[in-house]
Amino acid sequence: MHGQPIASSQNSGYPAGILVSRLKEIAGEFGHVAFASSLGAEDMVVADAIFTAELPIAVFTLDTGRLPRETLDLLERMRGRYSREVEIFRPGADEVAGYVSAHGANALYESVELRKKCCHIRKVEPLARALAGRDAWVTGLRRAQSVTRTDLPLREFDATHGLVKFNPLADWSEEEVWAYIRDREVPYNALHDRGYPSIGCDPCTRAIRPGEDVRAGRWWWESKDNKECGIHVSPLTKPIGEKTL
Ligand code: SF4
Repeated sequence: MHGQPIASSQNSGYPAGILVSRLKEIAGEFGHVAFASSLGAEDMVVADAIFTAELPIAVFTLDTGRLPRETLDLLERMRGRYSREVEIFRPGADEVAGYVSAHGANALYESVELRKKCCHIRKVEPLARALAGRDAWVTGLRRAQSVTRTDLPLREFDATHGLVKFNPLADWSEEEVWAYIRDREVPYNALHDRGYPSIGCDPCTRAIRPGEDVRAGRWWWESKDNKECGIHVSPLTKPIGEKTL
């Protein structure tokens, strides 16, 4: 574990103190809070803040069964760095076998419908299981990440899961995320250094070229307005306030 007090980084180019205050406020308001980590750069910042400040927020991730080796390596490095566990939720074996048998393992390239079906089995359903019994959940989403996230509030009601959902990094910039990671030597996915700003499953993620949108490497064969797996987009999700928790 590193020994740098998290609040001391307030003036180091990223608002770490504000992040911890937001997380403390969430943990104080709700009983069972969980942070859903995809192990991306932003999620490593939130997990580091939770673990370092010893906040009573559970941290979990979804192992879709198709994660890149580098993402699994990062999970191992987290185990070495922090004393807290990252809970892992996996898709149902029968559902995965049924999809593969009916459509083929890589049918996700054939149509948006089959891609979303794969995401439903490997991400959406396991997420619902991971959130069952929680009172609120936290993400590492930022507004600047995608055209689908420009209106992302700090706090919203996620009616799909019946929970309040918090996005405490909504107003952070990419520079602030990386300043935090470098300053505090937070472990991060090795693919970030190879042109992958956004990392998902191996078959659905590629490196981006200079000047491309940060999400251009996700489901690159689909329209840019459609690039969500279904776990963060719901017609039922409503903002609760815009600038405050
Ligand atoms: S990102 Fe790709 S491999 Fe992963 S669940 Fe979605 S479609 Fe399947």
